Amino acid sequence: MTQLEIDLNNLTHNYNCLRQKLASDTKFIAVLKANAYGQGAIEIAQKLVSLGADWLAVAYTEEGVSLRQAGIQCPILVFYPQFENIDRLIEHQLEPALYSTAFILAFSKALHAKNKTHYPAHLKCNTGLNRIGLSEEDLNAFLAQKETLPFELKSVYSHLGASENKKPCTFTEKQITRFLALKTKVEQAYSTPPLFHLVNTSGIFNYPECHFDAVRCGIGLYGFANQTDWDKSLLPIARLSSSIVQLHTVEKGESVGYNQGWIAAQKSQIAVLPIGHADGINRSFGKEVGGVWINGQHAPIVGNVCMDMIMVDVTNINCELHQKAILFDTEHTADHFAKNAGTISYELLAALSPRIKRIIL
Ligand SMILES: *Cc1c(COP(=O)(O)O)cnc(C)c1O
Repeated sequence: MTQLEIDLNNLTHNYNCLRQKLASDTKFIAVLKANAYGQGAIEIAQKLVSLGADWLAVAYTEEGVSLRQAGIQCPILVFYPQFENIDRLIEHQLEPALYSTAFILAFSKALHAKNKTHYPAHLKCNTGLNRIGLSEEDLNAFLAQKETLPFELKSVYSHLGASENKKPCTFTEKQITRFLALKTKVEQAYSTPPLFHLVNTSGIFNYPECHFDAVRCGIGLYGFANQTDWDKSLLPIARLSSSIVQLHTVEKGESVGYNQGWIAAQKSQIAVLPIGHADGINRSFGKEVGGVWINGQHAPIVGNVCMDMIMVDVTNINCELHQKAILFDTEHTADHFAKNAGTISYELLAALSPRIKRIIL
């Protein structure tokens, strides 16, 4: 059976380790988008709330709705709310990031229609990532009209595009300068200014001088920080394993898998594991790029990754039916597994499909 075990003690370790890097009054926004980076949003949210996270953040409205339906009551910031589900967002007391003038207009309209004012919201400003966010002019327009808008501004934030890069980084410095300028502008406009935040996990490590009033931390909670040195203080919380459903012998010259993806150079022993690209182990891990650990020994994935299965070469490994095979754990990390296939821990973890059974430890 394929399973993803989640160690909540390691989550606690990571939360405490990250929290210790912050001033005592800095707020912690725990990022739980994409099912908590594939690891199971509800249990992780419950744990983080009990540990004292000040806010939870998700990407889309429906992710926030699932948390509310599971009984999570703390403030939830939605990073990328969309026009179509503004009513649903309001219905579940989620807090939107307002990222464009058009979105602010649509959201205000929806609030007016419900006779609501002082609705908690956050402003997302663009400082150079050029993804989503208010431009300088959009921000000016917001500030000019703020008395007539139905929001209570909780925070103003921006997002760094290269926070893990070695310092000094001209690009990041430019983003910080822009952020400081807009912060001053917003502070001048409010007698009680909102909170300001800029950094993600790597920024917590790399830019301690830029923690401001809050940090938005995702991947760090799950055990990674995008730099080997920083990773050392964290513990991966997930262990992905599967178990052998069939073993067979192939003769020299025989092939394994679709399109004869692998040809046996010698008589070989092949183990089959029930995990495939539909589970998030994409095809780039095939052809010996990725592998599993059986009895502490490495067994490369041979041939192409199938939708529901992979085949691994266990010719030199003592193993038997039902034996456990580790894809990644605290020792053989997801980050390392991902890098072999030219991707990153974020993509690998977030792509782990709901089909994989989650077991909370
Ligand atoms: C995903 C996300 C984060 C969290 O980033 P990590 O690198 O995982 O800590 C922070 N802010 C925004 C806007 C995000 O989309």
